[in-house]
Amino acid sequence: MVNPPKKNKSELRAAAEKALAARRKRAEVKAKLKNGELLLTEVLASSDDSILRMKVSELLLSIPAIGITKTKVLMENCNISASRRIGGLGLKQRAQLLKELKISNSPSPDALGKLIVISGPSGVGKSSITRELRKDNRFWISVSATTRSARTGEENGVDYFFIDDEKFSQMVEANEFLEWANFANSKYGTPRAAVNQKLKEGKHVVLEIELQGARQVRKSRSDAILVFIQPPSFEVLKDRLIKRGTESESATVARLARAKEEMAASVEFDHVLINHEVGEVAKALVSLATL
Ligand code: 5GP
Repeated sequence: MVNPPKKNKSELRAAAEKALAARRKRAEVKAKLKNGELLLTEVLASSDDSILRMKVSELLLSIPAIGITKTKVLMENCNISASRRIGGLGLKQRAQLLKELKISNSPSPDALGKLIVISGPSGVGKSSITRELRKDNRFWISVSATTRSARTGEENGVDYFFIDDEKFSQMVEANEFLEWANFANSKYGTPRAAVNQKLKEGKHVVLEIELQGARQVRKSRSDAILVFIQPPSFEVLKDRLIKRGTESESATVARLARAKEEMAASVEFDHVLINHEVGEVAKALVSLATL
């Protein structure tokens, strides 16, 4: 038998540190699950490696009111072996587990408001639409965190929370984002706690985010209403982005390339609205949320 190559001291130290960070992460996830800050559906939808390696039994035991016996019964009923890890769960097993626990893949059990995701290419007019919705106090527009610099006129805590890369990584590590993505060399993310709080208060919560983020929300909160905003044409979009003049020429080119990709994905959304006129789109969104 061939022995695996021996690790040197610094490799051993790095491996130990990695294992410790993963253990901390798992402990944090379990604590958040216990106090309701995280939903089981969100943990199951995670793509974080240290979470995917957590044993299903360990996950179930961290849910309040589920003990050893119930965990065993649940796993047997769902055909999940005792050593199975979250990352190894099949679609059927996940669905069966949620069914057994009588959990629908929905936002929060005590959410009174609706979660609405607005997505669409850069320059399509999403910010003007959310500005319009802000006037209606049944709605609350989520404030994202971003690592990009503030544009003239943008205010910290109002338009975005402008933070640096280090703080952003810390928030990712602490699982504080409902979703996050890289866009045009910067990072953007939706702080989870405020969203859950506003939904509980009965507000319709609006996330104005790009495609990767919308896909993550679809996975973890299938009750969310996903709305794609289309420009009347690609030419109109190009024109708007150039006239807006907030980006350099190369950044505008990059955003337009990404716009093509995003527009092709509009079929993944529940609704597609064409932005001929901001007021009309806002009205349509109010109907979708309040009907
Ligand atoms: P901008 O830099 O023009 O403000 O935003 C760039 C893109 O990032 C836009 O498509 C915007 O909708 C998206 N965005 C803003 N906040 C978030 C967020 O929290 N998460 C994600 N995934 N995208 C965001």
